[in-house]
Amino acid sequence: MNKIIEVVSCLDGYDPSALRVDKAREAIRACLTPVAGIERVATRSALGRVLAEQVVPRFDVPAHDNSAMDGYALRAADLTPDRDSRLEEVGAALAGRPYKGKVGHGECVRVTTGAVMPAGTDTVVIQEVVRIEGGAILVPPGQKRGQNTRAAGEDLKSGVAVLGPGRALAPADLGLIASLGIGEVSVRRRLRVAFFSTGDELASIGAPLAEGQVYDSNRYTLYGMLSRLGVELIDMGVVRDEPALLEAAFASAAANADAIVTSGGVSVGEADYTKQMMAKLGEVLFWTIAMRPGRPMAFGRIGDAALFGLPGNPVAVMVTFYQFVRDALLHLSGRTDDFTFPLLRVTASHPIRKVAGRTEYQRGVLFRDGGEWKVRTTGQQGSGVLRSMSEANCFIVLEHERGKVEAGELVQVQLFDGLV
Ligand code: AMP
Ligand code: MG
Repeated sequence: MNKIIEVVSCLDGYDPSALRVDKAREAIRACLTPVAGIERVATRSALGRVLAEQVVPRFDVPAHDNSAMDGYALRAADLTPDRDSRLEEVGAALAGRPYKGKVGHGECVRVTTGAVMPAGTDTVVIQEVVRIEGGAILVPPGQKRGQNTRAAGEDLKSGVAVLGPGRALAPADLGLIASLGIGEVSVRRRLRVAFFSTGDELASIGAPLAEGQVYDSNRYTLYGMLSRLGVELIDMGVVRDEPALLEAAFASAAANADAIVTSGGVSVGEADYTKQMMAKLGEVLFWTIAMRPGRPMAFGRIGDAALFGLPGNPVAVMVTFYQFVRDALLHLSGRTDDFTFPLLRVTASHPIRKVAGRTEYQRGVLFRDGGEWKVRTTGQQGSGVLRSMSEANCFIVLEHERGKVEAGELVQVQLFDGLV
């Protein structure tokens, strides 16, 4: 395995003491190799998993030409262009119950949506426009050949791959796979991620809060964010700021996980002794990232596990997780589809303070103002104000070069929730 420092220092503009967000993401990516293990799972259990094979239809979907509407199947050639056409109804085809005979000249068959097109027919006239007169069906002029029908294979074509490796399976994909009658698929094995909090001031839930202590909230936000990524979790609790304890925790995490996520202990003063210990166990770089919140961050490898040493401040943990760890873990999971958060541009309803020379992730509320979507900040933006994440429904992403924002300017937002 190449040394991390050799890989990252080759990147253009790599500066560990003022690292731009996009460079940090690129540096992390360059050092990671996706997990290789593959397992077979039932189609339903494959939701959210990373597909590890090509799904190739063995037949067309739909398998037959069929009716898209309730009405009458007929031959377009039998219709007179400028007046009503009179046809004889010779039978019915229902969804799942095909009409067995062949339809001759001047004949039609009653059909329901999904019914196989009877042999000889090519067009469906919806039931609302026909008149029934005596035993005959009267079809008005103006019908088009092929209307209201669905062609065999218009959804999926036999032999043409429909889903490929590296894709996280979404609800629609499960449906596609099921439409091919496939009950099991190959997926990458789940990533194992160990996480713990560091800090002498941390109390665990259930213990009383002594003076100067705070409850360990980071492990709960991390639990939530990691769970949403669908990884296997190894929760290692709180580890005191003691070299021997930290060393043991890192060694055990590295032995059991593909990635380790910690919070706290990476700011300049605190990092000194962790640096020495990490140098023993693996290779870890300490970065100052040109962003807010979330300036200090450690990245590296301990044993075979990737390490993400996040800052301790509760908002900084979430921002660095979403901007770096999420991307890295999805890459490690074998995803090759584009999973970057979409950036949408909306109008800022109020001025926003911003300093040029760093990327800021302010917590925003996207709201509807009359007919237009606008965004405002949640107010207080301190990196310890976790409430701001809870109140927000998006990040307002203010680019590196940008200075302050006036009301009415366009800003970029990343929504917290996606539809699929
Ligand atoms: P650190 O990065 O360790 O210097 O911590 C920065 C700030 O985040 C300090 O105010 C810590 O008390 C706070 N902090 C660190 N870890 C946690 C945690 N697990 N839960 C809540 N707050 C934390
Ligand atoms: Mg600390």
